[in-house]
Amino acid sequence: MEKEVKTTCPYCGVGCGVIATVDDNGAVAVRGDADHPANFGRLCSKGSALAETLDLDGRLLHPEIDGCQAGWDEALDLVAARFAETIAEHGPDSVAFYVSGQLLTEDYYVANKLMKGFVGSANIDTNSRLCMSSSVAGHRRAFGSDTVPGTYEDLELADLVVLTGSNLAWCHPVLYQRLAAAKAKRPGLKIVLIDPRRTMTADIADLHLAIRPDADVALFVGLFSHLVSSNAVDQNYVAAHTAGFGDTLLAAGGVSFDDVLERTGLPAMQLREFYRLFSTTEKVVTCYSQGVNQSSSGTDKVNAILNCHLATGRIGRPGMGPFSLTGQPNAMGGREVGGLANMLAAHMAIEDAGDRDRVQRFWRSPKIAEKPGLKAVDLFRAVADGRVKALWIMATNPVVSMPDADAVEAAIRACPFVVVSDILKETDTARHAHVLLPSLGWGEKSGTVTNSERRISRQRAFLAAPGEARADWWQLAEVGRRLGHTDAFAYEAPAAIFREHAALSAFENAGSRDFDIGAYADLALEDYDGLTPFQWPQRQGQKRAESRFFAAGNFYHADGRGRFVAVRPAETDRTNADYPFTLNTGRIRDQWHTMTRTGKSARLSAHIAEPFAELHPRDAMEIGVGNADLIEIESPEGKAFVRALITERQARGSIFAPMHWNDQFAAKARIDVLVPPITDRLSGQPASKNIAVAARKF
Ligand code: SF4
Repeated sequence: MEKEVKTTCPYCGVGCGVIATVDDNGAVAVRGDADHPANFGRLCSKGSALAETLDLDGRLLHPEIDGCQAGWDEALDLVAARFAETIAEHGPDSVAFYVSGQLLTEDYYVANKLMKGFVGSANIDTNSRLCMSSSVAGHRRAFGSDTVPGTYEDLELADLVVLTGSNLAWCHPVLYQRLAAAKAKRPGLKIVLIDPRRTMTADIADLHLAIRPDADVALFVGLFSHLVSSNAVDQNYVAAHTAGFGDTLLAAGGVSFDDVLERTGLPAMQLREFYRLFSTTEKVVTCYSQGVNQSSSGTDKVNAILNCHLATGRIGRPGMGPFSLTGQPNAMGGREVGGLANMLAAHMAIEDAGDRDRVQRFWRSPKIAEKPGLKAVDLFRAVADGRVKALWIMATNPVVSMPDADAVEAAIRACPFVVVSDILKETDTARHAHVLLPSLGWGEKSGTVTNSERRISRQRAFLAAPGEARADWWQLAEVGRRLGHTDAFAYEAPAAIFREHAALSAFENAGSRDFDIGAYADLALEDYDGLTPFQWPQRQGQKRAESRFFAAGNFYHADGRGRFVAVRPAETDRTNADYPFTLNTGRIRDQWHTMTRTGKSARLSAHIAEPFAELHPRDAMEIGVGNADLIEIESPEGKAFVRALITERQARGSIFAPMHWNDQFAAKARIDVLVPPITDRLSGQPASKNIAVAARKF
């Protein structure tokens, strides 16, 4: 008998609904879920190839200690004992978790609870730090909370969609399909793409602004001034609902139109046209993604964008608002449970004594982290210099994906005790583990994820657990129990964790916090099984989401007002005589992260089979490189070897290279070895773009 299960795609932050069908022989087929409000039946190439990635080749099926198969009890006893010893001898901050936006919310919740509430440290950070933490910091500065104000539908309702630092066509393909369909139906919908590279997204854009890397602050500060001078400011909204307009206007006054031209490198006509479109169109959505976030000025870029939407009052109304698009399937869910080192659960603030007290009482925990923990780059620095002596890595491959990846690998190799929970036996990171714990993969695990529009959906199991693989939340809870916290970690199923998470979101929350799903605090098991996708908030006694935020103010700062932030453009050119090119890293359409899953599909790998770097034809000519030549790219941090792809899509002086390939697929092609450990001062997000490099024929 064929079995059909509704679940959610495990890749990007669009969070598409998937229907998986398992036939009598165990063969799996997937199709888009026509009822899911994120995709209405659509899937992209990665989502539709999911069934091709489910084989057990390379799977980790049993716990291992120092490379030898072990039982669960033996492995978990060892993990608990080594963490307990390390904490007893060196204190709570001598241990750390590095987790992932691939985890389900229930996994994330238990990890965060264990580290912040029972170990008593906030040393839990996530690969989502690399993805969207500048948006979190920008949201918190402007709104007083990490709130995405709008919904996907706004892209279809808008008259102008601005895509900045976002290759929607490849990185959020189903959202791109929705936008392209809306434009085909209503050609008057204008699309502006802001990106140094002419990406595939440019194919539907009316205007492509090939901006210099990291010049976004100047661009949006200039836009802010233009909105003022063209009388496009909504004076009533600004007066009633915001603070800080005057200071921001003063700061913007120091940036002239000519300054913007010089910093962005844009032609005056294009810049004027963008400013005209934005100031004269009421329904504007500005989407931003890694091109904005992955920068040493990422938070300022976010606030420069938010300033323009606050000034025009174009926020939280149909077809209007700033829109942060998250990269991963559950970066948002991680944020909701406090999966970042500088946040507490349920969008509460770790710096706030009242919030800490509230969470501690709810958890009945013996101690609670009193200060923010180490953010990803600093966390691995602390592993390198010995401050962190026991590290648990879950569902991520930092030896490939972290900046300064060679240094990160050296740090993990030298760490006295490393636990890795993964579905694969041999990853670039797993090879350095003292204890390997087999986790459940997509199709085997159950829980929830939250997509970029605050929509919570179920991932459901439709395959049996292979070998002895177990859920990540179970592994964490077992260690929690072994550390002596029996009651706090007595979960038997993800539904119980979800209920607790929902109850915490509503605990002593009389509307003072944005994230509230208290309506689900008493969810029955069968209702969890049948949970249909919903957007938060869903407060107790009010099981209907407000689908948008801030149209009538009601921000989460104490005075209820949104904040303008007076940002100033920073110097952005990092090139010099030794490293004359600017490298921007990114992703391609058909691979996901470090390819541990998508690399299994021959169909996906056929899209682009080898690691590559795009160069402009004149740059290629100057360094004597022809198409498909092997080139060496070098930064002060390391070297990578990839094929040259010569294309006029690339701006002169800059190189684009995807971050996916790991040593198992191509030797010495890890692009993140080139990325310096430079971070945004507020968010701690690494600058994975605008990197000074040299390039030469190999
Ligand atoms: Fe999956 Fe994203 Fe593609 Fe949707 S757009 S199918 S969530 S990868």
